[in-house]
Amino acid sequence: MPAVAIFITAWAGVFGLVIGSFLNVVAYRVPAGISLMRESRCPQCGASIRAHQNIPVVSWLVQRGRCANCRGGISARYPLIELLTGVLFVAVAVGVIRQAAGGPSTGAWATSPVFWGELIMLVLFAALSVVLTAIDVDVKRLPNAIVLPGWAAVVVILGATTVLASVGDAGAWEPFIRALLGGVSLYLFYYVVRLISPRGMGGGDVKLAGLVGTVLGWFGWGALVVGAFAAFVLGGAVGLALIVIKRAGRKTAIPFGPWMLAGAWVGILIGEPIARWYLGLYA
Ligand SMILES: [Zn+2]
Repeated sequence: MPAVAIFITAWAGVFGLVIGSFLNVVAYRVPAGISLMRESRCPQCGASIRAHQNIPVVSWLVQRGRCANCRGGISARYPLIELLTGVLFVAVAVGVIRQAAGGPSTGAWATSPVFWGELIMLVLFAALSVVLTAIDVDVKRLPNAIVLPGWAAVVVILGATTVLASVGDAGAWEPFIRALLGGVSLYLFYYVVRLISPRGMGGGDVKLAGLVGTVLGWFGWGALVVGAFAAFVLGGAVGLALIVIKRAGRKTAIPFGPWMLAGAWVGILIGEPIARWYLGLYA
């Protein structure tokens, strides 16, 4: 692995831990309507948390999961979300580097706008996946205040990537146009599903579908179809399993956002190969 690849991957890991710490704050404060600007305090005794007590994962381990002031327990969910975000960012960096280094621009990948555009967009999408899953599980909501700016940011990042990549290559517009069409189609699909079954699907799910469709469309029509389908396979399988082990009745609302996001990652990772294999069956 070249030095630049090692540097980017290590940086992604550290950045992921720090962002994971921020996502804990977002997941707790946005549904509760508390400002993100306020300093961090212990929810039990109100003592303010100092910078050295706020090091991702490390502080929780050093303090053995307790507040330094009142010794009240701090949930293991906090370090776990930090660790998960760090691992996801590393996985994204490794995946995008492998993809770019294997392409036709071997050697020059680290200066390619598409490499940086996909890295930044997928790191953002990983952060959105973590925080929206946490909030949807907690309060069964996907806040507009996160989904809509997230969707806009993905469009801006992919648009800027395309403008930079299109210098001397008119074909560079194709993935971006597909991303916009993917976002609109998946939004409309979920909009219709919600019209048919208003209880099974929330308005937040419809907007998240637009974001997910934009991300998947960038990678290809195969990624879009497989990613959208995988959400229903994963969500349906888990829903059935919960009914079988009687944790859920047939009317229990199971948050669907996490399955849309998990399905999206299936589509990003293996959507294109699966679609090629499937179409090959008919060739
Ligand atoms: Zn405390």
